[in-house]
Amino acid sequence: MENLVRRNIKELTPYMPGKPIEETRRELGLKEVIKLASNENPLGASPKACQAIKKAASSVNRYPDSSSFYLKRKIADSLLLSPDTLVLGNGSDELIEVILKTFTEEDDNIVTSQASFLEYEIISEICARKLKKAPLKDFRYDLKAIRGLIDEKTKVVFVANPNNPTGTYVNRNEIEEFLSGLPEGVILVLDEAYDTFIDVEDFPRGLDYIFKKNVIVLKTFSKAYGLAGLRVGYAVLRPEAARYMEKARQPFNVNLLAQQAAFAALDDRKFLNKTREAVLKGKEYLYTQLKKLNIDFVPSVANFILVDIKKDCLEFFKEMLKYGVIVRDMSQYGLNNFIRVTIGTARENKRFIEVLKKIL
Ligand SMILES: *Cc1c(COP(=O)(O)O)cnc(C)c1O
Repeated sequence: MENLVRRNIKELTPYMPGKPIEETRRELGLKEVIKLASNENPLGASPKACQAIKKAASSVNRYPDSSSFYLKRKIADSLLLSPDTLVLGNGSDELIEVILKTFTEEDDNIVTSQASFLEYEIISEICARKLKKAPLKDFRYDLKAIRGLIDEKTKVVFVANPNNPTGTYVNRNEIEEFLSGLPEGVILVLDEAYDTFIDVEDFPRGLDYIFKKNVIVLKTFSKAYGLAGLRVGYAVLRPEAARYMEKARQPFNVNLLAQQAAFAALDDRKFLNKTREAVLKGKEYLYTQLKKLNIDFVPSVANFILVDIKKDCLEFFKEMLKYGVIVRDMSQYGLNNFIRVTIGTARENKRFIEVLKKIL
């Protein structure tokens, strides 16, 4: 059957997830392994969400609510928007695909930046849509360069704000200037997976633009809420368009446990605050240590740091792995001398620095 496979799938470089803890234990025979590779919440999941999962476990013989009625209403209330501005997804990853399915035709193209979230490229490839990438400028999205790549066939522009894997952001002025020059027929997707960790004043709130321009904001429960394993994200956009994304998604894309857990997690301000505090404190610690070691890094507004190790990152990744520390090598992002490290617990951050010292 191989000869029947579509060319785009044959030629695809699939997404390479961060190496799982269990796999590392098994392969290297290590007892203690820490994972700082996928920007997950180091404190675990929201306790309220865990309780809700336990309570809902015996109901999984039923299909989930296809409309995610209660979760949607609760998210909408928290954003002071109406529920029909929301489209929920099996992680925001799924929504990237739903956006392309809903809005793009065969010969439309998509624009984003180099060294950004890999899913934009992979999903474009799977959907057989052409993707153009502007270079980064000082590790930041260069919106002028992106504007330069937009042509009459461009339908969607993806901007991860803040960007993964660099941790940098585009500010309010930059976004507003970009939006004012954005052609009518182009949709800007602002992917705000790390919004909880922002600690700067000039960060633009994507939601401010959804009724002014063709803007879709993506959010997720995978990072700050600690629910990466459950897969819940959402898109916010004008209701007239949201209803077509609703048509293009799978009917049961947000599973029953995920709906209950996300619903409970939204109430867990305590957990969210604790997470934010731990990340900001951990970031200060890592900055201080890296500076002491004279190691260059890119200042980040997210829960991870791009570190310039000035040598082959795949080798470096393997070295760290031997000590039971999983980081992300940046070869897939074209940053061959960089690793990305997720800010962990105080203990994990300390261990990372210890191992770093051993290797360098
Ligand atoms: C982690 C991340 C996501 C979240 O993906 P989910 O599918 O919701 O887990 C989305 N965008 C970016 C840029 C990310 O880093």
